[in-house]
Amino acid sequence: MLLSYVIPTLNEQDSLRQLAAEIVANSHPHAYEIIFIDDGSKDASFDVMSELAAADANIRVVKFRRNFGKAAALQCGFQLAQGDVVFTLDADLQDNPQEIPHFLAKLDEGWDLVTGWKRKRLDPLHKVIPSKLFNFVTARAFGLKLRDYNCGFKAYRREVVKELRMYGEMHRYIPALAHSLGYRITEIPVEHRRREFGKSKYGFERYLRGFFDLLTVKMVTQYVKSPLYLFGRIGLISTLLGTAITIYLTVLKLFFGQPLYNRPLLFLGIMLILGGLQFISLGLISELIINRVFPEQGLPVSIEKTINLPAPEAK
Ligand code: UDP
Ligand code: MG
Repeated sequence: MLLSYVIPTLNEQDSLRQLAAEIVANSHPHAYEIIFIDDGSKDASFDVMSELAAADANIRVVKFRRNFGKAAALQCGFQLAQGDVVFTLDADLQDNPQEIPHFLAKLDEGWDLVTGWKRKRLDPLHKVIPSKLFNFVTARAFGLKLRDYNCGFKAYRREVVKELRMYGEMHRYIPALAHSLGYRITEIPVEHRRREFGKSKYGFERYLRGFFDLLTVKMVTQYVKSPLYLFGRIGLISTLLGTAITIYLTVLKLFFGQPLYNRPLLFLGIMLILGGLQFISLGLISELIINRVFPEQGLPVSIEKTINLPAPEAK
């Protein structure tokens, strides 16, 4: 069996040698390939990677022209990976490669994606607490109960990574994306090590941006088949409410002679109608776009098996 390791890397020059050695030591008896993605490092990361690749033909390196972010780095590695099982690990040595066999054992039980759970997380409090909230909200939003969505240490069956489509900072929601495709996902506790070298690339602000990604992922996983259901529902409720309010005010004016210039309610009614119509048009436009993007085959689907046909391989 071939194991692929995808390692997104931004300025981690001091960790890479030890990381590669630990991965190789823990891959036995399987064949391995390590794919380093240099996501625009400004330090000597790329030089170290090149050295490692020169010494071991199973180590491959991709250098991005600039920093494109962790999701883009993972996506690139996923496209290149040839393994039957694909691992992702952070480059900073916080994930311990000794856990590799535990992931493989869990995949053997029939899971498609095994994600690490940093049970004892060795990061500062200002990261740990927001992370708890993030996981709580995300688990509720997608109906997939995990304690650690964003752990960098994960193992995937090949099919999963070939089907994931990520952009922006969606890497935090990989389990939700895979879940929406119908894959079976579980988590195992993993040892988390303190960062020895370099600095963390993410601070508190990630959770603000993360909220928008949550909306995006929710949209693309659950409403992409029918955006009009989502927007149309909001729009219809708003429009009907606004209409009811304005009818009520019209009756007051016409039959009871009440003036309307001093009724703030009038503005609410008008705004609800206008806002509602906008939502409905937005839903219609989304439907048009989806019909353009996926004209014949409908929406992207995930095929589990075929009979008398070549096995499905995502493009
Ligand atoms: N990383 C990356 N591109 C980025 C930011 C981070 O490839 O734009 C890599 C980074 O080098 C590390 C992993 O993503 O291997 C996780 O980053 P970090 O350890 O800083 O996050 P934390 O563990 O603090 O959440
Ligand atoms: Mg880290």
